[in-house]
Amino acid sequence: MSRMMIQIYPLHKTIPMAIFDGLNLLIMNVYLTNTPEFSNEKLDEIIALLQGIPGELKFDKKDSFTQSQYKWLNPRFQDIEEIDSLTFKEYFDLVQGYREFQKDIKDEDFVILISSIRHDGNWFSAFSHRNIFVHGHEWDIISNVDSKFGIAYQCVENIFQSLIDLDIMHINDEPNIHHEPIGCINDLCGYKPEILKKLRMADICDSCYARSQSKGVSDFIITQILDILEVIRKEFVLSGRFKRKHPLEQIKIYPNGKIDIGGKNIVLNILPKVLYICLLKNLDGIPSDEVCENKDLFEQIYLKLKKNPDELAIQRMCCKKMKGDKHTPTFAIYKRRINEELIKKLGTTIANYYFVTLVEDKNHQNLYRVNLPEDKLVLSCIIKRNYIYLLKNQQIYETS
Ligand SMILES: [Zn+2]
Repeated sequence: MSRMMIQIYPLHKTIPMAIFDGLNLLIMNVYLTNTPEFSNEKLDEIIALLQGIPGELKFDKKDSFTQSQYKWLNPRFQDIEEIDSLTFKEYFDLVQGYREFQKDIKDEDFVILISSIRHDGNWFSAFSHRNIFVHGHEWDIISNVDSKFGIAYQCVENIFQSLIDLDIMHINDEPNIHHEPIGCINDLCGYKPEILKKLRMADICDSCYARSQSKGVSDFIITQILDILEVIRKEFVLSGRFKRKHPLEQIKIYPNGKIDIGGKNIVLNILPKVLYICLLKNLDGIPSDEVCENKDLFEQIYLKLKKNPDELAIQRMCCKKMKGDKHTPTFAIYKRRINEELIKKLGTTIANYYFVTLVEDKNHQNLYRVNLPEDKLVLSCIIKRNYIYLLKNQQIYETS
């Protein structure tokens, strides 16, 4: 869990901690899977990372569900792009459905579903019995480290919490959920960036370790979990060092909309370019549920850069309704294209600093923003100035 956990299915069923596989090893299977929109390659990377630290927890995957199989479990999967978020029940029904469909998954096996669809209460992860979900996107909110490390952490964190049977129904009475972060695997992390502390500490505190002993969790599993956390910790610590050693290049926006980072030309089509420049101009971010209300900010940039503007282009990008009809905004597609181009030109490590991300502020409001300090940005005066434009008959009129 991060933030809180919830139980949907009965938790107090007795389950053997591990099963004997005949090879003098006590094996506990952990199967990872993904919703259709989440990258299969990323899932494979996460599994490879976890398999790199062998032990009693045996990480593996089974066949992924197709979109139509997910649709059968939840009709909303008919159109994945339309799903803003999933509830706990929806998440856990998906995991349970997957478990039941794969007939050879045993009750004591863990099943972890990784999805890029947000949880409706902004939880990174949660568990119910031995079903776990992990939100696989937005790790760039908290760090520039490859998301596979944060996701892998969430996987083992939820396994540990399930094994020690945290009382998630009474979160305020549960002594092993730390409301103030102390760097323990059981920190609540109500504010997402707080999660960085436990990623960098890679620890299980004395009290939580004692709890695991009292619940009969084998020391081999605890050691394996700590070894995995250590691999992840190194990645987060090293990335901090990299940032200190390699100061970021400024990003320059020229009057014609050319985007330059350290001499590298970031090539984008007009609408992704407008999206990116607009977020650079508004570094405080734009609330993710108010993109349409703020479409004038994008329009400003668009009309500056586009010679023969299309009156509806920005509305198509930002709004869910077009002339009264429901419509899927192209915003998310362009956001992805920007980040892909940044990776292509800068490599993943550096590109992370310039990404368009979805971040959560202290008031739990989600914002689209580029998480750059202002001194790393050079905007041409033309882009900076705010005009009011009127677009009539393909002609732009500047009114102030
Ligand atoms: Zn603890």
